[in-house]
Amino acid sequence: MRLLLVEDDAMLGRAILAGLKKEGYSVDWMSAGQSALQCLEEEKYDIVVLDLGLPDMDGTDVLKSMRRSGSTTPVIILTARDSIADRVGGLDLGADDYLAKPFDSDELMARIRALLRRRTGRAEKTIQYRDITLHPDSMRVTYQSDDVILPRREFLLLQELLSNTGRVLTRDQLESAVYEMGQDVASNAIEVHVHHLRKKFYNDLIRTIRGVGYLVEKA
Ligand code: CA
Repeated sequence: MRLLLVEDDAMLGRAILAGLKKEGYSVDWMSAGQSALQCLEEEKYDIVVLDLGLPDMDGTDVLKSMRRSGSTTPVIILTARDSIADRVGGLDLGADDYLAKPFDSDELMARIRALLRRRTGRAEKTIQYRDITLHPDSMRVTYQSDDVILPRREFLLLQELLSNTGRVLTRDQLESAVYEMGQDVASNAIEVHVHHLRKKFYNDLIRTIRGVGYLVEKA
């Protein structure tokens, strides 16, 4: 799950970021409206956490611009403007939820989970591939009915591959599913994760397509 956090308050941003990472989300954190809009153009997000009071523009303009361009990505608005009028205004503009500052981190995490569940329309969607079952919400994996604990990045990589069976995914595509934007990624990072996944499951689970990327065959 990839989130965009738009918050200019450094302390609050850091706290939210830490909470989100603990929950296993990949997060890009922007502190201005323009850079947030640029991210939204370049990346696909599962959810956007949006502060309204930004230094260069109002968060509602970010939201308006998103919805104008046809984006249906769920948006949770964060704001100190704790009035009914603002709340209704934000929801009218196409926000999916609203949290007034100050708020409890657990409350934000619960709202995010609820929005993601609503979006997928099921309590927890699982990805099934042969005898591997992925539970994306809880980041659990079961393999031949045993629980397998995967590091977060291996989980995200496996999730991306199993969600796209029959398609060759390039190293760039896989990196953007596993790492946050701007993060330094060793050139062989994906290769190393793939190696570990093959050892933990079975050796021919992931095929290397030389010079292109990786492929999991359709089950
Ligand atoms: Ca602010």
